[in-house]
Amino acid sequence: MAIEADFACPACGREVLAADLAAAATLPCPCGAAAPRFPGSLEGDRLLRCALCGDPRLYRQKDFSRRVGIGLLVAGFAVAVALGVWIGPSGFFGALLVSVALDTLLWLIAGEVVVCHWCEAHFREAAGTFPEFDLEVHDLVRYQREVAAKGQRVPEHEGEAAPAGGPALHPTRYDG
Ligand SMILES: [Zn+2]
Ligand SMILES: [Zn+2]
Repeated sequence: MAIEADFACPACGREVLAADLAAAATLPCPCGAAAPRFPGSLEGDRLLRCALCGDPRLYRQKDFSRRVGIGLLVAGFAVAVALGVWIGPSGFFGALLVSVALDTLLWLIAGEVVVCHWCEAHFREAAGTFPEFDLEVHDLVRYQREVAAKGQRVPEHEGEAAPAGGPALHPTRYDG
């Protein structure tokens, strides 16, 4: 199965989708920029490090959009209030219960997605074992990104020196 990647374009920040990571030598964006796929990031369909920024610190999480989940709850609450006015308390609690149940169901059936701690690129259908989200790593990466934003090297991020003539290994444009 093809690994699907979605990530923020290093040039314009727009969200870009690459449907088949293994087949893509570059990760092109409609803005014209094409980030090269990080050398050595893939081994067959196994993801060894982030294909965009090369950071090996990846974690897995439920492939569930928190925005969709919250949107559903807010919409459910609005419907509940309306039904509460028309039908009374049973309508209110009924609608609320349905929206919470739907939300839970969506969460339960959601698959898993692999996320890069550094650039937050998402990878679906990537083989390999990845740890769960780790707040300590997350905080460390955030600190290292600040260091990198000042133009200093972060060896833990790169693993090795930047290839000569290659792109900068510290994307710093993901914050905006
Ligand atoms: Zn772009
Ligand atoms: Zn990354």
